[in-house]
Amino acid sequence: MPALAEPLIAWYRGNARDLPWRRPGFGAWGTLVSEFMLQQTPVTRVIPHLEAWLERWHTPAALAAAAPADAVRQWANLGYPRRALWLHRAAVEIRDRHDGAVPRDVDALLALTGIGDYTARAVAVFAYGDRHPVVDTNTRRVLARAVDGRAQPGPPAKGDLAAMSAILPADDAEAAVVNAAAMELGALVCTARAPRCAQCPLSDRCAWRAAGYPDTGDERRKQARYEGSDRQARGAVLKVLRDAAHHEVPQDDVLADWPDARQRDRAIDSLIADGLVEAVGGMLRLPR
Ligand code: SF4
Repeated sequence: MPALAEPLIAWYRGNARDLPWRRPGFGAWGTLVSEFMLQQTPVTRVIPHLEAWLERWHTPAALAAAAPADAVRQWANLGYPRRALWLHRAAVEIRDRHDGAVPRDVDALLALTGIGDYTARAVAVFAYGDRHPVVDTNTRRVLARAVDGRAQPGPPAKGDLAAMSAILPADDAEAAVVNAAAMELGALVCTARAPRCAQCPLSDRCAWRAAGYPDTGDERRKQARYEGSDRQARGAVLKVLRDAAHHEVPQDDVLADWPDARQRDRAIDSLIADGLVEAVGGMLRLPR
C-alpha cells in the first residue's frame, strides 16, 4: 500500500465528521446534489439546503419535471446560483439520456451540465464505490505539502489526478477512503492558514514539515470581495425575483434604489445572459 494511504485510512476512521452524504444508502442522486452544493459553499450552510432539496425532489426525474425557476428559488441564498440551473439541466439530461438513473461512468458524468473532473469522480467513487482519484482544493493542499514540500498548491492542473492516483491503494473501497481522508484532512487539520501538524497522521512523512516549512510562494487566486461587487448585485436582483409575489417584476422597479445604477444594469444583463433571468415585455422573471 502507498506510504500515505495507511495512516490516512486509520486517521479517517477515527476522525471523520458524520456528514449526511457519508451515511450508507445516501444514494447517487443525493451525492450528486451535495457535490453541486459543496462546490463553492461550506458544509454547515449546505446541510439544511441539501435536506430541503432532496425532500422536495428525491429523484432526478422529480427535479426535471419542475420549472427551472423552482430550482433557482429553492437554491435561495446558497450563492453562485448558476449551479441551480446547471443542476436542473443535469437532471433533465439524466432523465432523457440515462432513464432517470445517475450514471456511474465518469465520461457519462462529465458529459452532464455543470459537472467537472471533481464532481464526476466524486460521484463515481462515493456513490458507486469505483476507484478513481478525487481531487478538491483540500486534497491539493495536502498533496502539495506532504508529497511536494510546498506551502500551497499551484493552480489546478491535470497532473493533480495523477498525483492523487499515486497514493491510492489497489482496493476500491480502501481507495475511496483515502480520497475522502485526504479531503477531510485538508478541511480539518492541514488547513490553508494554520496546519495542525501535531495532530496530523502524516506528520512524520510530510515533505514540507521535514524541510522546515519553507516559504515556497502562494499562487492561489484571492477571492474577490463580495461587498460592493457585481456578485452582490446579482444576488440582490435574484432575491427580488425569488420573493416576487406574482413571480415577475417590472424591470425598472428591480433594485430601483441600488447605489450604482450601472452595476445593477450589468447584473441584470449578466443574469439574462446566464439564463437565470428572463426579460419579457419590460418585466423580469425567473426562467420558466
Ligand atoms: S504535517 Fe502539517 S503540513 Fe504536513 S500534511 Fe500534516 S498538517 Fe499538513
